[in-house]
Amino acid sequence: MTSLAARPAITTTTHFINGAWSEPGGPTFPDYNPFDDQVVAEIAAGGPAEAEAAVAAAHAAFPGWAATAPAERQRLFLKAADITERRRAEIVHILAVESGCSAPFAHFQVQWSVNLLRQAANWGYLPVGEVLPSDTPGRFAMAVRKPLGVVAGFTPWNGAFNLAWRTIALPMAFGNTVVIKPSEEAPVSAGLLHAEIAAEAGFPAGSLNVVVHAPGDAAAISEVFMASPAVRCINFTGSASTARILAERAGRALKPIVLELGGYNPMIVLADADLAHAVDATVFGAFFHQGQICLCTRKVLVERPLHDAFLDALAARTAALSCGDPTKASTVIGPLINDRAVRQVAARVEEAIARGARVVTGAASHGRVYEPTILADVPRDAVVALGSEETFGPVLVVEAVEDAEEALERAQATPYGLSAAIMTGDQDRGLDLAQRFDTGIVHVNAPTLVGEPSLPNGGVKDSGWGRSGHYAREDFTEIRLTTLNHGAGRYPI
Ligand code: NAD
Repeated sequence: MTSLAARPAITTTTHFINGAWSEPGGPTFPDYNPFDDQVVAEIAAGGPAEAEAAVAAAHAAFPGWAATAPAERQRLFLKAADITERRRAEIVHILAVESGCSAPFAHFQVQWSVNLLRQAANWGYLPVGEVLPSDTPGRFAMAVRKPLGVVAGFTPWNGAFNLAWRTIALPMAFGNTVVIKPSEEAPVSAGLLHAEIAAEAGFPAGSLNVVVHAPGDAAAISEVFMASPAVRCINFTGSASTARILAERAGRALKPIVLELGGYNPMIVLADADLAHAVDATVFGAFFHQGQICLCTRKVLVERPLHDAFLDALAARTAALSCGDPTKASTVIGPLINDRAVRQVAARVEEAIARGARVVTGAASHGRVYEPTILADVPRDAVVALGSEETFGPVLVVEAVEDAEEALERAQATPYGLSAAIMTGDQDRGLDLAQRFDTGIVHVNAPTLVGEPSLPNGGVKDSGWGRSGHYAREDFTEIRLTTLNHGAGRYPI
C-alpha cells in the first residue's frame, strides 16, 4: 500500500472486503490536502466488482454477526473505542490534511466517536421485543425485533470520522452487517480508518466492508447496492440533492432508506437573552468547521432592542477567529473542501452584495480559506437569505425582527427542518417557541449545533428522516410477529 503523506503516513488506501485489504496495483486516484493541494495518498478506485464482493461478504457474515452474543459485541465495540482513543493524535492529523479540519473539530470528532462506540457497546442488551395480548384463547403472541441484514452506507466528507462511525456502529450494534462507500473527498477519514480499527479490534470478517472509489464513480457503486436483494436498507448521510436521486432509486427497489441531510438552521435571539452567551453560541454554531456542518447556523433573527449590540459583539468575535493551515494548533478556520465549494460560497455572497447586502465582516478568501462572513441588510430574495439552499460554508445572515412571532415566521420559511435555536432569559417562553418549530431538533439557550451521540439527531421535511443514538433501533431492526398456539384451532372454513 502506497503512502505519500508526511507525518503520520497514510498507509491504508485499498478496499477492505471480507476481513482483508485488497491488493494494491489497480487503478487509483489522488487524495488531495484541500489546504495546500499536496497529494496525501493514492486511493484505490473501486467499481461495481468491488461493491458486489463487499455485499456478498456482508451477506455471508450476516447470520453469524446477528447471532453473536451481546457480551461479545460489547467487547468488540469497547475495544474499537479504546483503539480510537489511542490513535487520537494520528486521526486528528489525518482529518486536517485530508478534510481541512482544524484541531477543535477533529478532537470533537474523535471524542464523539469514542463515546458513540461505548454507548453502542450496550445496545445489544436493549429489549428485543414485546409480548402482545391476543383475542384468541391459547395464543401466545410476540413482536420480535430482528436485524435487517446488509445495510449499505454512504458517508460524507464533512464530519468524516464521526459520521462514518455513526453510519457503521448504529446498524452493526443491532446485528446488521455493513458495507460503506466513503466520500471520495475524504476516503481515509470517512471509512478506511474505521476498517483498520475494526480489524484490530477483531470484528469478524465480512461484518464491516469498505469500498472506495474515484470522483464520478459513486453512482455505479450505489447501483450495486440498490440492485442487490441482499442489501436490505440504504443508510445515507449527505445532501438533499443526492438524497432525491437515491430515494427515487430505493423506491423502485422497495428498499427502506435512512436520510440524514442538510439544513438551514435558524437561531432566534430574544431581547432578554444573555448577550455574551448568544454571541458565543452564534460564533460556534455558524463557523465551527468553516460552517461545513449540517447543523451550522445560517441565519440569526435578533429582536430589535438587542440587535445592534449583538451585531457589534458578534462582528468583533468573528473577525478575531484565526484562519489558515488546519495542522497548526492555533487555527480555527481551515480551508473549504474544494474549489467548487469556494466558488459556491463566493458566488452566494457576491449575489447578496449585488442585491444590496452589507458585509459586516469577511467576504474574502485566501486560497480555499474563506473568511468567516457576516452579512446584514440582506434582501429576502438573495439565495443566502432565502432558506431554500444550504450555503455550505462560513456565511451567516443577521436580521432584525420586531418580536418573537415575526422571528418564528421568518425562521420557519425554509423547506429544511433540521435544527433551530432560541436564546432567551425566559425559559418558559423559550420552551413555548421551541414546541412551535417544525424541525427535528430545537435547542433553548444552546447553539443549533449540538452533538452528543446518544441524542436523536435527524430532520423533518427536506432534512430527511431517521434518528441516531439508540433510537436508530427503529431504523435498523424490523418487527416479526411470532405466535405460539395451544390447542386445536377454530377456523371459519
Ligand atoms: P453529497 O450528497 O455530495 O455526498 C454524500 C455521499 O453521497 C458521498 O458518499 C458521495 O460519494 C455520494 N454521492 C454523491 N452523488 C452520488 C450519486 N449520484 N449517486 C450515489 N452516491 C452519490 O454530500 P457531501 O457534500 O458529502 O456532504 C455534505 C452534505 O451532507 C451537506 O448537505 C450536509 O448538510 C449533509 N450532512 C448531513 C448530516 C446529518 O447528519 N443530517 C451530517 C453531515 C452532512
